[in-house]
Amino acid sequence: MSANSLPESSTTWHSLEVDKALGLLNSNADSGLTTEEVEQRLQKYGPNELEEHGGRSAWEILFDQFKNIMLLMLIAVAFISGSLDFISWQAGELKPGEIPFKDTIAILAIVILNGILGYVQESRAEQALAALKKLASPSVRVIRGSKLVDVAAKDIVPGDVMLLEAGVQISADGRLIEQANLQVRESALTGEAEAVNKQASLQLPEDTSLGDRINVVYQGTEVVQGRGKVLVTNTGMTTELGKIATMLQSVESEPTPLQQRMTQLGNVLVSGSLVLVAIVVVGGVIQAGNFSPLRDLLEVSLSMAVAVVPEGLPAVITVTLALGTQRMVRRNALIRKLPAVETLGSVTTICSDKTGTLTQNKMVVQSIYTNHQTFRVTGEGYAPVGEFHLDGQNVQAEDYPEIPALLVACAVCNDSVLQKEAGEWMILGDPTEGALVTLAGKAGIEKDQWNYKLPRVSEFPFSSERKRMSVISQVEKVATGEPTMTAVDPTLAGLVNSEPYIMFTKGSPELILARCTAIHLGANSDHLNDEQRQQILAANDQMASKGLRVLGFAYKPLAEVPPEGSDETSEQGMVWLGLVGMLDAPRPEVRAAVQECREAGIRPIMITGDHQLTARAIATDLGIAQEGDRVLTGQELQRMNDQELEQQVDLVSIYARVSPEHKLRIVQALQRRGRFVAMTGDGVNDAPALKQADIGIAMGITGTDVSKEASDMVLLDDNFATIVTATKEGRVVYTNIRRFIKYILGSNIGEVLTIAAAPLLGLGGVPLTPLQILWMNLVTDGLPALALAVEPPEPDVMKRPPFSPRESIFARGLGSYMVRIGIIFAIITIILMKWAYDHSHAVTGPGLDPERWKTMVFTSLCIAQMGHAIAIRSNNQLTIEMNPVSNPYVLGAVVVTTILQLMLVYVPPLRDFFGTHWLPLDELAICVGFSALMFVWVEMEKLFFRFMGKRSV
Ligand code: ATP
Repeated sequence: MSANSLPESSTTWHSLEVDKALGLLNSNADSGLTTEEVEQRLQKYGPNELEEHGGRSAWEILFDQFKNIMLLMLIAVAFISGSLDFISWQAGELKPGEIPFKDTIAILAIVILNGILGYVQESRAEQALAALKKLASPSVRVIRGSKLVDVAAKDIVPGDVMLLEAGVQISADGRLIEQANLQVRESALTGEAEAVNKQASLQLPEDTSLGDRINVVYQGTEVVQGRGKVLVTNTGMTTELGKIATMLQSVESEPTPLQQRMTQLGNVLVSGSLVLVAIVVVGGVIQAGNFSPLRDLLEVSLSMAVAVVPEGLPAVITVTLALGTQRMVRRNALIRKLPAVETLGSVTTICSDKTGTLTQNKMVVQSIYTNHQTFRVTGEGYAPVGEFHLDGQNVQAEDYPEIPALLVACAVCNDSVLQKEAGEWMILGDPTEGALVTLAGKAGIEKDQWNYKLPRVSEFPFSSERKRMSVISQVEKVATGEPTMTAVDPTLAGLVNSEPYIMFTKGSPELILARCTAIHLGANSDHLNDEQRQQILAANDQMASKGLRVLGFAYKPLAEVPPEGSDETSEQGMVWLGLVGMLDAPRPEVRAAVQECREAGIRPIMITGDHQLTARAIATDLGIAQEGDRVLTGQELQRMNDQELEQQVDLVSIYARVSPEHKLRIVQALQRRGRFVAMTGDGVNDAPALKQADIGIAMGITGTDVSKEASDMVLLDDNFATIVTATKEGRVVYTNIRRFIKYILGSNIGEVLTIAAAPLLGLGGVPLTPLQILWMNLVTDGLPALALAVEPPEPDVMKRPPFSPRESIFARGLGSYMVRIGIIFAIITIILMKWAYDHSHAVTGPGLDPERWKTMVFTSLCIAQMGHAIAIRSNNQLTIEMNPVSNPYVLGAVVVTTILQLMLVYVPPLRDFFGTHWLPLDELAICVGFSALMFVWVEMEKLFFRFMGKRSV
């Protein structure tokens, strides 16, 4: 079989030995593929991508647009209007030059346009979300050209040697080369929730079923525990997941809470307008005593129906959400689930991890403690250059035999890699471990060398629950009995005895110490007595209370390699080596972000796996907790039942030494207290808490794929301050949506009332034709509404408490504002209408049509909305108090819209088309004067609310 025929043979990899598989793919377990080979194979097999099938088809998206009840009503209006036009046409009632079916065509055009607009926006939103998903797609650690590199999942090719660790979502199918406690959850493929233990060394019969092939791994499955090295055998659509394309998660197209509210609003508006139509028609007929005014009444009704539908609203909302998502991603908050954009603003509590989110996750070891002495370590960053100081004096590490022993443990019990790239020292892997490699390097103990001297044969990997890890190394080659270099290395004097293996363990100091029975002093191990334990714990507390992250180290000589899963029993009876304390400085921007949270009524909470004193020192420094605040530890939490925890959650701001499952209980308790919780997480076991949280936040840099998959939002920079920024953006988006809904619906109500008032006042005919109403709703309302959607945040946006995500769209006075403003709108316009009617019939002359009162009403309604747009930019600030160019779009929209409106009155072809009449300048001035009253009214309202000490909505 050549490399060319790989994809077809995908089903038999489990029946091959590792070496055979490597040979078939021309690969090497240690050096991987070369760059040229990768390029060739990429050409040949294409990128490692699955073709998306799950989403809606283009036709489905288009069809869905016309399921909207408001559009259906408009279609009905178009049909009735067309029938009336047909009757007029047949009866020869059309004026010379008048285009028949104008309104019908316009309404249908709007319906189609709205449908297309909705379609374009929705498909773009789906594409954008798909693109965002790709952005959040995993990178994969592979060996290429003998080097470890992280590459995008799509660049993986058959033959690549891929490394797996806990939390990784596997990006391609592959044959295991080696594994350590590797457990993989394959539910995406097999439906089996239980994680599967994988074994590289097996060779299985060809007909082994998918779920039982424990020597291979599959794309889309998740590493729950352990580590593994895999030879990639299949990529892209040739993987098992690729074959079952329907299993792919489709792009989410669930309506957001806001879209649901808009559907409800549509239903209310449509049913409301139908009731109004019925009242007008029945009332008119009863008033006349016969059916003669039926036709006029029908026309009035049609206009009212068109007026009540906010034709431009769905488009404006979609655009606002899309812009909000884009703004957030520019600020490093990647939204994975669209509703989060709207609901982020409602967050009341942010539960944040410490390491990397509140702190920089750039660890530098500052002190070590061995043999009851604390040494200070100098140096910066990851460069393995620095000195050891004892009592202010520079000392040589090798003069104190416990130090090299401790540093060997640092180097060997370690999965990170220290590399020099472009002159700078970088680490690949966990920064905590990187700092330990650097520390060892400062005393000349190089990890690579020691990996060779003490080759790793087994391990008990790190997990947040265990809070420790162990590595078992070979001291002597058991098979041959031949000693390795180690046996003669003076650094290990006293560490290795006659046993062929040695286990190094590191982790939470209390935990490690509790598992030790001896202590390494000089070149010997001694019994560990209680006094020494107390001294070590005191040293630990001293380091932790300075905010240092402290790890404890121990070792144990072993006669044989302990079996997998025997960690509880094997990690006992160890010999204590010492403590290492590293500084992880708080992120400088977090202090201000915490302060901003407090002012915004949001409570920040620190949840960390670290020691309570370390947690307290950093939380106090950042302002998350005050001196003396209660810290709840995982142990205490474990002893509490749900009710007890619920009583505490509002009082505790620091949770220390917690495990991921505690996070879930904390979120649930907070939610039972009515809090709207954002929770961060990075590990595979954080996924349940992230799903449970109202806003689950995964870490973009250090987060596992599984946590990202469970999240609503991904922090591209892992930074707490970004959560606060996103919350602010969420508030701005929601406030702006409410702002233009107020703006648009207030005007709609004004239009409907004005139209209904005309027959009541005995004014003949309909003041506004459907075409003119559509123009207003789409253009003269739509453009300023779009501009209002990008209104910058009001200065107090983060100085007020969050709003409930479950509040109705009409809450906090929005409904009453709409009705109130609608009525004011109508009153102003109706007064003008009555005056204009009398005036245009009284003042006649060449070019002056007595019907021009209708154009005055039309123009006044449009211009009044311009004043409304300017005034509504702020709920509380007067327009003169605001920077007029802080949202230049509103000014621009007002100018453009006013010019367009004037063109409808003064450009003859447009005038003919829209059925308007020429207005002399004095009449236009009167229209503008009346319109200005709208602006004045909104400003007066602001003053009134200010005077009453209330906030307007
Ligand atoms: P946060 O939850 O705020 O990110 P954290 O990084 O301390 O804090 P974990 O990564 O769950 O949380 O670590 C929990 C504890 O496990 C640490 O406080 C430390 O004592 C220990 N620990 C962390 N990393 C390692 C490691 N690589 N090897 C051994 N022990 C570790």
